[in-house]
This record gives sequence, C-alpha cells and structure tokens, in this order.
Amino acid sequence: MNIIAKLLDKSSDWGLLLAMKGAEVGQVDGIVLFDLRKRGDSFRPTMERALRMIREHDPRRYARVSKYISRITNSIVIPGLDAVYFFSIRTVHVEFRELPLAGPELLSAFYACLLVHESTHGVLNSRGIKSSKTNRVRVERLCVSEQNRFAARLSAADPIRYPCEILQLPFDERHWHEAWNAGFLERSSKLLWRTITDKKLDQPELLQPDKNHDQHPSQHC
Ligand SMILES: [Zn+2]
Repeated sequence: MNIIAKLLDKSSDWGLLLAMKGAEVGQVDGIVLFDLRKRGDSFRPTMERALRMIREHDPRRYARVSKYISRITNSIVIPGLDAVYFFSIRTVHVEFRELPLAGPELLSAFYACLLVHESTHGVLNSRGIKSSKTNRVRVERLCVSEQNRFAARLSAADPIRYPCEILQLPFDERHWHEAWNAGFLERSSKLLWRTITDKKLDQPELLQPDKNHDQHPSQHC
C-alpha cells in the first residue's frame, strides 16, 4: 500500500471513530455497541443476545469474535450488503433490520451468524488475506461456511427455536454482486442518499406535507 492510500485509510478510520462518539448504547465483554441511527428499534438487546448466544453455544468462535470485533455499529452500509467489516478498527457496521416474522431469539440467531461471518473476515485479514477482485468469491464462501457451521451448532442445541432450514444460508455469490459491481462514485452517492432518507424516516415531521404546500406533495421531491 502506498503512503497516500495509507493516509486515506487512516483518515477514514478516524472519521468512522468520530461518527461513533456519543452513540455508545452498551457493551458485552468489552465489545461496544454504537447506535448511529437511533430508530428506537431492538438493535441493542438483539446484539447483546446474539453475542451471549455465541458465547454460550460456541466458546471457540466467541473467542474469535471478541478478538476481531471491538465495536458493532448500527449504521447505513454499502447498498447490497447487510454489514461491512473494517479490520483496521475491528469494527462491524450493521444496517440493523427487524424481521417481523422472527421472534427475538431467531432474530438474535441471525445476527449471531452474521457476527461469526464478519469475525471470519477478521481471521483472514490477520493472516494477510484481504478480499480482492481475484479472491472475493473464495473469501465469502469461507465466511458463509463458517457462519453455517455455527448455525448448525445452534440448530443441534435447539432445533425448534433455531431451525436449520431457516438459519443455514446456501452460498450464492450473486448476493454480493450489487456491492461488487458498483463503482466508487455510484456506491458513495447511493450511500449518501440512503443515509439522508434514513434520517428523514427517523424524523416523521420531515415527511409530513408542509403546511404551506400540503396540496402539492410532489413539490417536496
Ligand atoms: Zn463477508
């Protein structure tokens, strides 16, 4: 990596850490949770339960999670992905979603699987294996295999609460195509737009028709 790329990397790390300031909502065994979206959803209890679930059911994988994940944030991420991992600051950014048909236990199990997946990226990064155009399919396949092995442990422990047919994710590289195929500018503008929209959804009054123009909602576009 050249010096300019290193500086850009460092400044983006600094920007991300700055954005987290004041957004801390909890922690489990030193893994700190930050809610940058503050939508009043179940991000904090779900992540706490997910971490405890890994600790209880799979101590070996939990050791990896705690080694490679220091922070979990709820924030808007790159279009096409549910989460992104930053090895340099050991941070997972999750765009948290409630799943209305899943109860709290199953929702936490989904996120537990996701954290196992992201910690596998940490393991690979620590061995010098960074995701690149040439190896990204192999990297994601490995991470999905690892999350599925964890899902299998959960299902074996309690097949009713954690059904394997729901938690197991067959690997399909098309899941990543949107994120991989977008250029830098397209990805950035989509990310910005989604962040703005997300903020507006958090402030319902911004979505209300303006009193002076309430007959012409299209003017608000
Ligand atoms: Zn991945």
